[in-house]
Amino acid sequence: MVLVCGGAGYIGSHAVYQLINKGEDVVVVDNLETGHIEAVHPKAKFYKVDIRNEEELDKVFKENNITEVIHFAANSLVGESMTNPLKYYNNNVHGTEVLLKVMIDNDVKRIVFSSTAATYGEATKMPIVETDKTEPTNAYGETKLAMEKMMKWADIAHNMKYVSLRYFNVAGAHVSGTIGEDHSPETHLIPLILQVPLGKREFISIFGEDYDTEDGTCIRDYIHVVDLANAHIKAIEYLRKEDNSNIFNLGNGNGFSVKEMIVAARKVTGHEIPAKICERRAGDPARLIASAEKAREILKWEPEFTNVEDIIASAWNWHKNNPKGFNK
Ligand code: UDP
Repeated sequence: MVLVCGGAGYIGSHAVYQLINKGEDVVVVDNLETGHIEAVHPKAKFYKVDIRNEEELDKVFKENNITEVIHFAANSLVGESMTNPLKYYNNNVHGTEVLLKVMIDNDVKRIVFSSTAATYGEATKMPIVETDKTEPTNAYGETKLAMEKMMKWADIAHNMKYVSLRYFNVAGAHVSGTIGEDHSPETHLIPLILQVPLGKREFISIFGEDYDTEDGTCIRDYIHVVDLANAHIKAIEYLRKEDNSNIFNLGNGNGFSVKEMIVAARKVTGHEIPAKICERRAGDPARLIASAEKAREILKWEPEFTNVEDIIASAWNWHKNNPKGFNK
């Protein structure tokens, strides 16, 4: 049985769907601070528990035959992490400390961890490989790196085997049309662009046109949420087979500028989507592109959504049919 912490969130809920499609038994723990109960697959057993609550979390382990944990339960807003870093240390770092303690107490020694490209900070060469230096430029990335390090030392001391997956820019929605992205506040580029054709926003703001890139706007590597979810299943299989800790980047390996994403969204939606150039957003690196060669080679992971228009179309399908998100 797989325990998914944060299984009511955007990426966590997609991982639960893919696990259940694969025939796994799933338990979800989520405090529903940012997650949605409607996003939890009906076949998953659900506990409204905060991972910082050791007693309640321990009960979940005692009541279920958990063999692996996938850990998504964290705060993930870069901007908020800069104004309220202690919230991030408490929920992300302390939360992971409690989770690892309960896992060790219950002799569960396999964990797949939701990490981020933000652990690298301002990378100097592209594409980014897992051995590149990790110097986060924001508190969010710093806490994710601290969580990775905690697992490394838990491995050395307690034989806790972990796979850390460093995501680049996640987007899109499940093909079933039942779950998708619903953040409040929304800060991500694709859902914000799509708010224009939905009539919720008059134009999309382009944060800076003076970066050192071909068209002056920031370049990112967009990866579909279902491809990402599938990588977690590959990571579980890897832990079951290899019993080894490892770190993998997850991205498509292709960079798209903000302007290119707007053009693609115009094509997908048939809407003119007006755009306005604005100031740069603090802390945005000019370019972030993954090398996911290691995941391809070792995990045998292969993304299916390699075209950004398909990724945008999948997000558009969700937002068009659920303009209020889960709050129907
Ligand atoms: N961005 C933008 N306008 C927006 C939101 C985002 O120009 O309204 C840019 C942002 O500066 C970054 C890229 O889009 O270069 C992706 O931002 P997002 O927040 O989606 O992901 P991040 O790369 O920050 O994780």
